[in-house]
Amino acid sequence: MNTTASPKTPLPVPPNNRLAGRSRRARTEPMSVLPLGDGLYEVESASGHTYLVDLEGGRCTCPDHVFREARCKHIRRIAIEITEGRTPPPGEIAVSCEECGETIFVDEDDNEPFYCGAHTIWPGDTVIDRETGDRLTVVDVSDLRADAVEIGAADTTVAEYATNERYDPDVPVVGAVYPHATVATNGVVPKSLRVYVFPRTRLEKATRPQSTR
Ligand SMILES: [Zn+2]
Ligand SMILES: [Zn+2]
Repeated sequence: MNTTASPKTPLPVPPNNRLAGRSRRARTEPMSVLPLGDGLYEVESASGHTYLVDLEGGRCTCPDHVFREARCKHIRRIAIEITEGRTPPPGEIAVSCEECGETIFVDEDDNEPFYCGAHTIWPGDTVIDRETGDRLTVVDVSDLRADAVEIGAADTTVAEYATNERYDPDVPVVGAVYPHATVATNGVVPKSLRVYVFPRTRLEKATRPQSTR
């Protein structure tokens, strides 16, 4: 899993702020924070050294903490970044949206692929099939993996289906219908309606609403 570190820059000091010592250096020195999960963080300091911090335990591997038992600038920096939304709190990690690359915070136990709010798909959304360019309407968003769902008619799994070969077999599947099929306005799908199942990454969320014909 590719976790994302916060940008290595100084943080702005609020006006009329009288921070001194470690509290001040925690803001003014360029540091980057990488959440590792399990409440652990890696901090890259201005000098390029990296230190490991257990935030909830209040421990850091730097000399200031190890030899002086100080609440060092690295521990303070992580606390500030969490408060300001630059770094996720314990239990979450920072990842990139599969579609646009935007940094998002997700539960550290969640599975890839990850999508930002704008690229998360829901039943009723319009999506585009990357293989054919066809527009479809999403009816079902699943946690089941493409290599665990059978396509009965083709006697294969979604992952092994010929046109799905270049998509990862461990991504979740999405059920969608072609728009000529009528979907009741209350979201209930008639039994006769054919639902096609795709690996999530094969579908791209359509950002503009489809014009009505
Ligand atoms: Zn430290
Ligand atoms: Zn996105």
